[in-house]
Amino acid sequence: MKIIDVLTEYGKRSLDRTFSYVYRGDKRIEPRFRVRISFGAQEAVMGFVLAVRDTKKTIKELEEENGYAFKEIHDYDIIDEEPLVDDQMMELANKVSQYYLAPFIGVLQAMLPLSLSPKTSALRGPKIAYEQWVELVKNDENDLTDKQIEMLRLIASNTPILKKECGSIAILKKLLEKGRVKIILKEKERFHIRPEEREEPHEMSLEQRKAFDDIRNSDKGVVLLEGVTGSGKTEVYLRLSEKVLEEGKSVLMLVPEINLTPAMVEYFSRRFGPKVAILHSELTPAERYDEYRRIARGDASIVVGARSAVFAPLKNIGLIILDEEHVESYKQDNSPYYHAREVAIMRGEIEGCKVLLGSATPTLESKARADKGVYEYASMPHRINEKALPHTEIIDLRDRKVFSKNSEKLSAPLIAKIKEKLDKGEQALLLINRRGYWTGIECPKCGHIFTCPNCGGNLTFHQEDSMLKCHHCGFVEKYPEHCPSCGNTRLRRVGYGTERVVKELQDLFPEARVARMDSDIGKVSKNVEKILHEFKDGKYDILVGTQMIAKGHDFPNVTLSAVVLADIGLSLPTYRASERTFQLIAQAVGRSGRSKRVGEAMIQTYNPDHYAIKNGASQDYGAFYLREMQQRRITEYPPYWNCILLEFSSSKEEKAVESSMDFKKEILGLGIENLNVLGPITPFYSMNNGKHKRVLLLKFKKRESIDSYLRQLLQRFSSLAGVDISVNVDPLDY
Ligand code: ADP
Ligand code: ZN
Repeated sequence: MKIIDVLTEYGKRSLDRTFSYVYRGDKRIEPRFRVRISFGAQEAVMGFVLAVRDTKKTIKELEEENGYAFKEIHDYDIIDEEPLVDDQMMELANKVSQYYLAPFIGVLQAMLPLSLSPKTSALRGPKIAYEQWVELVKNDENDLTDKQIEMLRLIASNTPILKKECGSIAILKKLLEKGRVKIILKEKERFHIRPEEREEPHEMSLEQRKAFDDIRNSDKGVVLLEGVTGSGKTEVYLRLSEKVLEEGKSVLMLVPEINLTPAMVEYFSRRFGPKVAILHSELTPAERYDEYRRIARGDASIVVGARSAVFAPLKNIGLIILDEEHVESYKQDNSPYYHAREVAIMRGEIEGCKVLLGSATPTLESKARADKGVYEYASMPHRINEKALPHTEIIDLRDRKVFSKNSEKLSAPLIAKIKEKLDKGEQALLLINRRGYWTGIECPKCGHIFTCPNCGGNLTFHQEDSMLKCHHCGFVEKYPEHCPSCGNTRLRRVGYGTERVVKELQDLFPEARVARMDSDIGKVSKNVEKILHEFKDGKYDILVGTQMIAKGHDFPNVTLSAVVLADIGLSLPTYRASERTFQLIAQAVGRSGRSKRVGEAMIQTYNPDHYAIKNGASQDYGAFYLREMQQRRITEYPPYWNCILLEFSSSKEEKAVESSMDFKKEILGLGIENLNVLGPITPFYSMNNGKHKRVLLLKFKKRESIDSYLRQLLQRFSSLAGVDISVNVDPLDY
């Protein structure tokens, strides 16, 4: 008989240990197999085998010895025929779990594609090669809830739309029941590479050559490549990859988001053909499984993918590249809250391969490590062919004279510049990092402000479907005819986002072709690719968008890039507010003038003297870095100090308060040197799903000095009834 030690699929801290079962059959069962177990009152729970031990004892003897019942695993409970992960991946999962203080099973679940994941839902769902789409049947909003109307409007304007892009399955079911929409099956379209002529490799410039050599020759595990926008980082990645392939090894290429960086995928696909596997978010579970298996078999030697591709089962890795390492989407925003850059570095250590981090505006953390010599540093300070950086003008919005009577959002100089570009047949990018039409609605008569009843956030009016939405928790309601508290019908509408800027441009330039790109558009992923390609092909004159348009795109005909309101992110309650603002502006400016013509940029702001805005406008990363490092040292934030965010949530507010205060008292009571604890803070969004939240921010110098204490405390506090604690190591907010 065998004793089987398994982890359950429940990623709770208090359950982060193995439970023992017995198996009497003779099927193959090994560590890293999935098995179905009964657990507590649950009949079919997924288990992940960590150890298999032989025993000569009987069940009865075991039970007497241990004092608990040993349940049995049967032949039909054994799910896999091969271990799910190899030694290296186990080691990686282990490191990730240790560093992020995350239950091991949760890391495995984040690591494996759904159909291989150790959770029950993996076994449901058809493994099909076709996709489910939703088609509009009847556009009738009678007796629908606001949520249902929101979805119906989305479907109506995008029909047919991928089922998974509709949102909540429960709401979709209602629409199906009520006969407003129907499901159709379509054969899956593969992510297709645009059939452009195969591009010949560029002859590397001197600067590229030097960076290439510096990276190759370094004996350090991690290299930071700081290259200004348009310096030709992609070609360096391609050349390095070529070399690694020649040496018989494989390459892992990480990008912030595949949808937003189709160019990088195209470059790799065109240069390396069928050797490339693309882990695209649009893959169906069945396809993802196929790609995963193909990579695991060794049939692909280059993997291009976003955050979770850092866990691709690629073997014999010779190089891991993380492009645009500063982009925050590399950090998962739910448990285990891992950052693909840190995981890539862990993986590089395990695999014994180099990790290359590329950016025009590296995070302070990475730059500081390069400064200290922990990372190798390579740089490309000039654009290809010595092309000049864009000429940039900062427009001070505090001076009302910059506005003409035509617009209160776009200044006269900006309007004139857009006109000039339109006349010349050149393109413009307008960045406004806020979506929607009006970002606040209030009643001027009684002062009522429209806020979210769930979380207290402001409601934004979206013209696309005429709904008021909470950007934080997803609450929606129909745009009201009158004020709910006094009945007044003239509501004041304030603030503006992407939709409003598009409207402004259409009024000012009726002949211009204007497109919009933000995460509302991005809900339907086919639209993202379509709009980006069409803009690149010149089907639009102006592209208005959120930060989605600031990322690594190469639009050759863009000669003006403008930030409509640079201040939006500055007042956010996070230590990264300046860094985000700087990056956004620098990246936006960097989109301009990448081809033959010299680019221009305009930044509209109420804070023209703020260093993040000034340095962003001039793309002076060095100056920004020095200034912001001072700030971080004074305020005791990364990279000088490390942070861990603990969120206590409970359906009873006093429990959240009490447990967080107790936790703080206990950890401070240990007298650890260089440890500060902020809080308990009531977060801006203080409720979620009926639970009250409080957070503590731990700030410390050395992880080793708090690690074991923190683990013990977490273990103990996690078993408190009625309180959940989530742990976010290296949080990006607060
Ligand atoms: P980055 O990612 O550093 O902003 P890209 O890799 O997008 O820059 O390169 C900018 C432009 O320069 C691209 O259009 C690319 O095709 C071109 N380019 C890159 N390397 C060379 C080279 N050695 N010679 C000529 N053009 C190049
Ligand atoms: Zn809300």
